[in-house]
Amino acid sequence: MQVNTLILGAGAAGLHCAAHAGPGTLVLDHAKAAGEKIRISGGGRCNFTNTGTTAANFISSNPHFAKSALARYTQWDFIDLVNRHGIPWHEKTLGQLFCDTSAKDIIAMLLAEMAGTAQLWLNTSIGTIRHDDTGFHVATKRQGGVQTITARNLVVATGGKSIPKMGATGLAYQIAEQFGLNVTPTRAGLVPFTFSDEKFKPLAGVATPARVGTQDGTAFVEALLFTHRGLSGPAVLQASSYWREGEEITVTLSPDFDLAAALRRHRQTDGRKALTTVLGQYLPARLVDFLAADLELAGNVADASDARIDALVGALRSWRLKPAGTEGYRTAEVTLGGVDTDGLSSKTMEAKGVPGLYFIGEAVDVTGWLGGYNFQWAWSSAHAAGTAIAAGG
Ligand SMILES: Cc1cc2nc3c(=O)[nH]c(=O)nc-3n(C[C@H](O)[C@H](O)[C@H](O)COP(=O)(O)OP(=O)(O)OC[C@H]3O[C@@H](n4cnc5c(N)ncnc54)[C@H](O)[C@@H]3O)c2cc1C
Repeated sequence: MQVNTLILGAGAAGLHCAAHAGPGTLVLDHAKAAGEKIRISGGGRCNFTNTGTTAANFISSNPHFAKSALARYTQWDFIDLVNRHGIPWHEKTLGQLFCDTSAKDIIAMLLAEMAGTAQLWLNTSIGTIRHDDTGFHVATKRQGGVQTITARNLVVATGGKSIPKMGATGLAYQIAEQFGLNVTPTRAGLVPFTFSDEKFKPLAGVATPARVGTQDGTAFVEALLFTHRGLSGPAVLQASSYWREGEEITVTLSPDFDLAAALRRHRQTDGRKALTTVLGQYLPARLVDFLAADLELAGNVADASDARIDALVGALRSWRLKPAGTEGYRTAEVTLGGVDTDGLSSKTMEAKGVPGLYFIGEAVDVTGWLGGYNFQWAWSSAHAAGTAIAAGG
């Protein structure tokens, strides 16, 4: 069988690329359904973009690489598409846009957009790939039958390694290496931290605003959530993408509030209250109890000298913790690293040394923050490749 464009992976990037790549496009996926990660994303409501998206919201060995694709297909372009399909959405927080009803609306929209020009084969496994003057020859297996598909253009959109249970594989990296492209080391990103001694078990379920910083000086102010195994919540997930094995993180509790001034005020107005009771007005009570032993919180607030208040608040603002590790690819929302951008055109996503071969989406060494940025990268990189192909690539 011969097609103009073969897209491997019917996820966010593959489906969106199919809508732009022009006639004669075939999308293959080994999964039972298209867009499975879209379906479960954002708690089932898909945080499909972020109104504040810029290249600064992405991690890559080359921080400039994402600029071109993001500028040529922006968050406003995708919002426009969502509006044209009449999908109701809302902004939750920090520019994050979610579907009002269901992430399935986004999948249905992507399938409708590609229906005119592209075919979709699910439950299809991908075997060996050969390349010669006549194109890319991809061995496939579907419904027990083996078939080789020849394509002029091959788009690799098989994502990263996160959540193998949902069908993630390292196929994109294998293909990149087969064609002589470099792959930067991959690791789990947007992932909870674990602690070997399960020290936070008594706090499981407690959430509080915090600034979570990593040793490279990056910090995020959002919610922190204690879990049975360690730390999670948006601030922690964000920080995890900047954390390296063996490093410490610094947690600042009550980050946007002058706790020292508040404690001094309490000393004047209700000095006979226990220090733990007063702190419990500003931090979750279970967290205050947990910290009480280490921080010597016994006594009334009236007994706390300025020096003690400063020391106490200093400790709460600079709580240094050393994670044992992360939950890994099992629960990571993204994979950091991937196909090295040095080998790709930032305008078209085409491999510089292999005309007709494209890498898009999470497979590429471009990883977004939490908050809709990863889908925006999938849309933008898919559009870059799809329009380049349609224009004669
Ligand atoms: C739980 C969760 C929630 C998320 N929520 C959000 C969110 O709200 N907002 C956001 O921006 N990002 C979110 N993300 C990240 C986002 O889902 C990904 O960045 C995005 O899906 C990447 O798109 P992609 O098309 O590159 O890869 P994917 O969507 O992963 O698609 C890859 C496709 O390739 C197929 N495939 C893989 N290997 C093979 C193979 N060997 N043979 C055949 N097919 C193969 C897979 O079955 C899959 O369909 C979330 C991720 C997770 C895990």
